[in-house]
Amino acid sequence: CAKAHGGNTSCLYSLLDGESDVRQMKLENGLRTSIENEQLQIVYQPIINLQTTRVAGLEALLRWEHHELGNISPAEFIPIAEKNGMIITIGKWVLETACRQLGEWQSDGFSELCMAVNVSTRQIYEKGFSESVKVILEETGVNPSKLTLEITESLMQDHNFSTHVFKELKEIGVQLSIDDFGTGYSSLSVLSSSQIDRLKIDQSFTQGMLGDGKTQSIVKTIIDMGANLDLELIAEGIETQEQEETLRQFGCQYGQGYYISRPLSAEKVDMYLFAKSR
Ligand code: C2E
Ligand code: MG
Ligand code: MG
Ligand code: MG
Repeated sequence: CAKAHGGNTSCLYSLLDGESDVRQMKLENGLRTSIENEQLQIVYQPIINLQTTRVAGLEALLRWEHHELGNISPAEFIPIAEKNGMIITIGKWVLETACRQLGEWQSDGFSELCMAVNVSTRQIYEKGFSESVKVILEETGVNPSKLTLEITESLMQDHNFSTHVFKELKEIGVQLSIDDFGTGYSSLSVLSSSQIDRLKIDQSFTQGMLGDGKTQSIVKTIIDMGANLDLELIAEGIETQEQEETLRQFGCQYGQGYYISRPLSAEKVDMYLFAKSR
């Protein structure tokens, strides 16, 4: 370990127990410089109107290529970013980049296109969140009604707080969507609060419904409930034609999944949009 005194960090790493701690540390440190090192990228997954098959919008999904560890899944690095607070800076970068990109596509003639951006609970809890959303919309010239913020159900635990921030966001005019609906904690009272605009049916339901009668009933029930409560419904994780067809028959308005399109780089979205508009 003599080298360690000369500033070699590999000795420090060896003191930590196990490889996973080393990885964890590399990820945590790497995240802090990921934006300035231009390692973050957004891919966009099309969301289509299942009834007309037209493209309705896109969901922004974050990608990180670590210089040494390669592609890291958001499922792994988002929780780290939430823990060390980097999600605030990163989340803002995602919102800015996705809104600027949406502005470009709208000026290219796809003026009705919407953008969905995932936001973490930690971002929403940060003071001044709604103000920063407002500023980003003003700077990018995006109509607030074309931006949807996707929130996971865990946020609904602190009902009083979320209601307050949701109210501010609704005043700005953005759409609010509950992601992975059906897997978390949201109580039905949140749905009656009239602040939520859409529900995304979790992919486990989409993928399980054809093999299981009860799962199919749950999907049907969520879609019917959505219609009754005036909520827009998006089914996630559509991987087969049969799933798409079934959801269409159940009256689900929107769909998203590998069968429709994988998440695409911005350049590929350009081509996708022009091809679909012909
Ligand atoms: P999510 O928001 O529920 O996004 C859907 C995930 O399912 C994405 O994974 C997408 O690539 C994947 N997916 C889409 N269609 C299919 C399909 O047909 N089959 C299967 N098996 N998977 C499909 P991804 O991109 O790895 O993102 C994972 C999660 O990470 C997201 O889940 C979201 O919760 C989070 N995330 C991604 N980007 C951001 C971000 O910018 N900010 C925050 N806070 N969270 C993000
Ligand atoms: Mg999402
Ligand atoms: Mg989801
Ligand atoms: Mg472009």
